[in-house]
Parts: sequence; structure tokens; C-alpha cells
Amino acid sequence: MPALTATVFNGQKRPIAWKCSDCETVFALDRVDAILTKKSTEQINKDFEMHCKGQHPGSQIIGLDIPHEDLGGWPTP
Ligand SMILES: [Zn+2]
Repeated sequence: MPALTATVFNGQKRPIAWKCSDCETVFALDRVDAILTKKSTEQINKDFEMHCKGQHPGSQIIGLDIPHEDLGGWPTP
């Protein structure tokens, strides 16, 4: 089943681009210095969902975890 795999990181070691694990399609934030916010995470998940519906129909979609806050918060483990 397709999942998003972080593939590009910025200077703060935060992911800014992800690859579909079932093909090589890349999903990236708008800018390299963009911070992964709740909004941008939802956007990536939405793009990925659209991609999966078109390219991997019938598969279970595993998106990114949505950060709890809009403070650039990558969820703490
Ligand atoms: Zn794919």
C-alpha cells in the first residue's frame, strides 16, 4: 500500500519533500524554507490522496501525521 516517505530535508532536519512508496512521485512543500504546518501537512495529504485515487486505486492511503499546532510543530514522539 502506498505511503509517504520523507526524502528531502531542510537545514533543520525537517522533511520538506516526500516520495510515494509505490512509485517515484514526489510531493513537496511550496518552498524549501517552508515549515511543515497543520495546513501544509493537510495539503500534502490531500495531494497524496488524489494521487493514490488516480494511480493506486483501491489501496489504503497512509498520509502524514498532522502536527497538533501551527507553530512548525513536527509532532514529538
Ligand atoms: Zn504513487
